[in-house]
Amino acid sequence: MAHVIVVGGGAAGLSAALFAQKNGLDTTVFDTDKTWLHKAHLFNYPGIGSEDGTVFLETLRNQVDSFGVDRTQGEEVTAVDSTDDGFTVTTGDGEYDGDYVVLATGANRDLAEDLGCAFDEDLVDVDVTMETSVEGAYATGAMVRAEEWQAVISAGDGAAAALNILSAEKGENYHDFDVPADADEVFGGMADDET
Ligand SMILES: Cc1cc2nc3c(=O)[nH]c(=O)nc-3n(C[C@H](O)[C@H](O)[C@H](O)COP(=O)(O)OP(=O)(O)OC[C@H]3O[C@@H](n4cnc5c(N)ncnc54)[C@H](O)[C@@H]3O)c2cc1C
Repeated sequence: MAHVIVVGGGAAGLSAALFAQKNGLDTTVFDTDKTWLHKAHLFNYPGIGSEDGTVFLETLRNQVDSFGVDRTQGEEVTAVDSTDDGFTVTTGDGEYDGDYVVLATGANRDLAEDLGCAFDEDLVDVDVTMETSVEGAYATGAMVRAEEWQAVISAGDGAAAALNILSAEKGENYHDFDVPADADEVFGGMADDET
């Protein structure tokens, strides 16, 4: 199973982790909990009427945890390096190998710069799938945008990155479609009570 390492646990990083792990990739998230979501109140996230950003984050964390994402809070990633067959991610706790890395560090672009990703002026240069100039390394969310910072856009970026990784792994274009019967399976026939 391919291993995806996500750096950053805000809207972008947790969205990438959700899509990757839910669809069978082994996914690890490192996060230092400085997400701007703690400062936000969401009125503009489609499907969310009005919600405190920290409350939204807690739901998102529970959602990724329920699918089995390995999420480590408080662990800063200090380096991401390319290797012959992927990436090595360094934290104060040790080194971790991944086949893919998704950078989702908010407006901080230092790791992308150190990894050698191409920039377009101040922004990390990505294609529509969020892949950087370094194959297998993705950059998502605030780090790839100038000021146009919104939670739903970051979440979309994370989803796009994960779907592209899934397409690469499965050898064909991939989409994550569920139908109502799947909810019965996930919630044990209690779908209407749980949603
Ligand atoms: C005051 C304020 C109000 C806002 N209101 C709204 C609003 O109403 N609606 C809206 O849509 N958006 C709002 N936003 C913007 C929204 O919060 C951001 O667009 C969104 O959080 C960006 O998501 P992200 O995942 O790109 O980055 P973030 O959510 O900032 O997450 C980045 C994460 O990466 C972690 N990180 C960084 N470097 C490392 C590292 N080296 N190792 C490990 N972890 C690391 C950080 O600790 C952080 O948790 C608001 C922002 C602010 C500041």
